[in-house]
Order: sequence, then structure tokens, then C-alpha cells
Amino acid sequence: MVQVTERPPASVVVQPWNEHNQTLAHHVHPSDWANPAPAARYNLVVIGAGTAGLVTAAGAAGLGAKVALVERDLMGGDCLNTGCVPSKALIRAARAWADVRDAEGYGVEVPSGSKVNFPVVMDRMRRLRAGISKNDSARRFRDLGVDVFLGEGRFSGPETIDVAGKTLRFKKAVIATGARAAAPPIPGLAEAGYLTNETVFSLTELPRRLGVIGAGPIGCELAQAFARFGSQVYLVEAQHGILPNEDRDAAQIVLQSLLKDGVRLLCCGGDLTVSKGEGEKRLSVESHGQRYDIPVDEILVGVGRRPNVEGLGLDAVGVAVEKTGVKVNDRLQTTNPRIYAAGDICSPYKFTHAADFQARIVIQNALFFGRAKASALTIPWCTYTDPEIAHVGLYERDAATRGIRMKTFVQELTDVDRAILDGETEGLVTVHVQEGTDKILGATIVARHAGEMLPELTLAMTHGMGLGKIASTIHPYPTQAEAIRKLGDQYNRTRLTPFVKKLFHWWLAWTR
Ligand SMILES: Cc1cc2nc3c(=O)[nH]c(=O)nc-3n(C[C@H](O)[C@H](O)[C@H](O)COP(=O)(O)OP(=O)(O)OC[C@H]3O[C@@H](n4cnc5c(N)ncnc54)[C@H](O)[C@@H]3O)c2cc1C
Repeated sequence: MVQVTERPPASVVVQPWNEHNQTLAHHVHPSDWANPAPAARYNLVVIGAGTAGLVTAAGAAGLGAKVALVERDLMGGDCLNTGCVPSKALIRAARAWADVRDAEGYGVEVPSGSKVNFPVVMDRMRRLRAGISKNDSARRFRDLGVDVFLGEGRFSGPETIDVAGKTLRFKKAVIATGARAAAPPIPGLAEAGYLTNETVFSLTELPRRLGVIGAGPIGCELAQAFARFGSQVYLVEAQHGILPNEDRDAAQIVLQSLLKDGVRLLCCGGDLTVSKGEGEKRLSVESHGQRYDIPVDEILVGVGRRPNVEGLGLDAVGVAVEKTGVKVNDRLQTTNPRIYAAGDICSPYKFTHAADFQARIVIQNALFFGRAKASALTIPWCTYTDPEIAHVGLYERDAATRGIRMKTFVQELTDVDRAILDGETEGLVTVHVQEGTDKILGATIVARHAGEMLPELTLAMTHGMGLGKIASTIHPYPTQAEAIRKLGDQYNRTRLTPFVKKLFHWWLAWTR
């Protein structure tokens, strides 16, 4: 563990200011950092050192480009500091608790009084995050040959970016400034105060009652984790059910699990208002025709992301901005051909792995006259509830709107031996193939480790392997991934037409 006591500027202090967060700050925003003297001109200047910016900078420098990377807050961006990393550390602790809770069903006697120690859970998360942060550290990137500038970046001319009193001259630039939690226009919310992903991981005490607004991936993951830790969680969602973007039957399985964990869902919620009372906040919402007035200790907003475009001087360099962020073409080039963008700032796919692969496209296109296209990426995603729900490609509704005819194969985990033995039968694998072929167009998996199972199908889609190939791939027995192979068998059975069956019958009778 690095021993440091120096405190970075107030704007970038991560709370609580303990040894783990000191280590984090030491890596990703060292207070003693001296920005280097700028080079005469850079091949690439990257604004924003989240996943998109880090991958662009490291990749380009590795290929020999002269690269500057500008970060105003914490290197590593959302993923490391306030997103994937801390949330998954909490989710793992929550799963440990659920395993203890359910252990008797496996014949394990659990001492009574077992409970979650929330401060220890949070401390574990901060320790693990601090450890991982070394990979994204300013010093590591300097050692990779990148000129790291800490400060707010801003376009100051057609080929210049200003940061902390220095001017960086670029041949090409990349905007990788990401997105932040948006404040939804809910009456009373701002006055009452609320948590977002930027503040929730700084909690040191468990809120006894927690209102979560939005049952998308962030809302569902954290609602379940906090319910498992012992908060009474009220999950408020404007639409019906949870995870509105996922298939209904798949999302329903996850919902059952959240309800089992004690989450109270108020869906089809309308007319939501928030007020501040004596030592508490109140959520008032109409759900399914009934009005609810719920006292809570904290409110977590899990909906809406707003692109970080302000203060970048984009107007001056002719970079157009839309509601969703910086406007890019399929080659991730902005409306200024010398300036590219990658990650949450421009992408409808707000995931770390999407930011990573967009960064690789930008390197090719910006530095080597490449023609790589963002639309060619096959981007999977996973929501890390328990069970997880993972998806790639088309949903049934997409195919319907595009007039694509699909055949759908479903394998419930209730018929998969490993899932039965694990006691994890709440789940399924759904694969859509183009009608008349085995070409995989989309897939959804609900399973405890759906995110670990999905890459097999993503690989098949990316490299044009059909479901028939998966059927002929030997999977170890017993594994939950066998569910995918079984779908291949289902597909093969459809090829056994009455005519083929008759032929087999004749042949076998003749050779008896
Ligand atoms: C709670 C939560 C959980 C998540 N979990 C997952 C998950 O499990 N898996 C997954 O794939 N994705 C997850 N995500 C999404 C993921 O975190 C983002 O998609 C990813 O971080 C995007 O990376 P980025 O580089 O585009 O942007 P960011 O990570 O937002 O980085 C942008 C950086 O730019 C900096 N910046 C902005 N403006 C300026 C400026 N003017 N000058 C200098 N620097 C600037 C910011 O400070 C920031 O560091 C999660 C997100 C949240 C909120």
C-alpha cells in the first residue's frame, strides 16, 4: 500500500479521505503532479482519461505517436472511480450475503445473527479500487510515453487545446470526456438532496430506507445490493416492470429475484415528487392507480446520463453537439475532420468495453487513414444483478421493426444439470437466428454468471459462426454454458425435416 498524505484539490477529493482513497488519489490525481513541458506538436491530444481516453492514449503511444492526455478530475473516469469497479465490488459483497442467507437450503447451518457489516463492505470496495487504480495512474501513463496533463482541457484554436496555463498543439484530437449523472426534473428533488453514482460510493453508513429512482441497469444493480445489505429499498420506475430495454420474460426473472431480496417496486410510476421532512425525505408517487407517500433516508438517482460537453470550446472548432453528446459519423469523426470522439460522450452504448473498442477505431482512423466503422462492432452488455442479464445483437422487437424474419430458440435453466445442482435454475438462454439459416442475430442470457456465458455467442456472431457450429462444440459437463450447446441441438433438430427423417428410416431399415 502506498503511504501518502497529500490531498489533491478539493474538486477531486474522493471521500472519505482515508488511506485507500489517498492511494487512489495518489495514482489517479497526484497532488504533487507537475505537468510536463508541451511538445512542439502532438500527433494526438486526448481530452478525458476515462476508458476511452486511456485506451486511445496508451494504444497510440505504443505505436510510436506523440500523445498528450488531459484529465481534470480522476484518471480512470467513471469506470474506475464511480462506476463499474465500485459497483461490482459492492455487488460481490451482496452476493456473499445472499449465499449465507440461502445456505441452509444447501445443508449448511448458518449461525444466527449473521449480518452485513456495511462499513467493512465499503472499505473492501475502496481497498480493491485503490489497488486496481494503479493501472490507470498518471505515473504509469507517463512511463508508457504519454504526456499527462492534469487540468481542464479546452479547445482554444483550430489546432490547439489549453490546459492549466499550457497550450498543446495537435495534428488530431480526441474528445473522450464521457458523461455524468443527469439531474432529472423531479419536483423537490434538488431541494431534498440525492445521491448519484458520484456520491453513493462515498457512503460510510447504510441508509435504513433507500429510494432508488429508475429501474435501469444502475438502479437495479444498486437497489438489489442495498436491499441485501439490509436497507428497505423502494425502486421507482416510470415504465412497467424493470430493465425496460430488456425482453419482458428475461427481465421478469430478475424482478422476481429483486422482490425476493425485499425490494419494493413502484412501477408505472407517475407524478413523482420529493419533499424534505424532519430528518428524512419523502417520495410521493402514483403507481398502478394508487398514491404512495414513502419516507426514506436517502434517494439514489439511477436514471439519465448527460454528456460532458460544457466548457470544451466546441463551437469555436466547429464540433457539433446533439442532445446525446458530440455528433460523430460512423468513423467516429466529429463535424471537424481533425477531431474524433469515443466513449460515452458520443456513443449510445454507454459501456466500458464499448469505449475501449471505439478508442481502437479512433487510433486506426485518426492516425493511419483507417476506415474502421463503429457500426461494425458487435457490442454485448450485461446487467450485474443476481441473476445477471446479458444481451447481444437484436431483440425480437428490433427484428419486427426492421422486417427481419427470425426463429427463436429458448433453453430454460431448469433443464440444465449444472444449474439444477447449483440451485440456480432461475434463468434462460434465448437465441434468435435468421429464419431458414443458423445465423445468430441476437441472444439474451439470464443466469447467475450470464456475463461469463455470453461471450461464446458474441464470438459466434462476430465471426459468423452459426448455431450449428455451437452444437458441434464440446462443452464440459456439467456447466451452465451447456445451455448454449443445447440450443444448438434444438436448432439441429429443426433440420430433421420429415423427408430427411424418412430417408434415415429407409436407410436404417435397409442396413439392419
Ligand atoms: C454506477 C455505474 C456502473 C457502471 N457499470 C458498468 C459495468 O459494469 N460495465 C460497463 O461496461 N460499464 C459500466 N458503466 C458505464 C461505464 O462506466 C462508462 O461507459 C465508461 O466509464 C465510459 O468511459 P468514457 O471514457 O467514455 O467516459 P468517462 O469514464 O466518463 O471518462 C471521461 C473523463 O473525462 C474527464 N473530463 C471531462 N471533461 C473534461 C475536460 N474538459 N478536461 C479534462 N478532462 C475532462 C472526466 O473527468 C472523466 O475522467 C457503469 C456506469 C455507472 C455510472
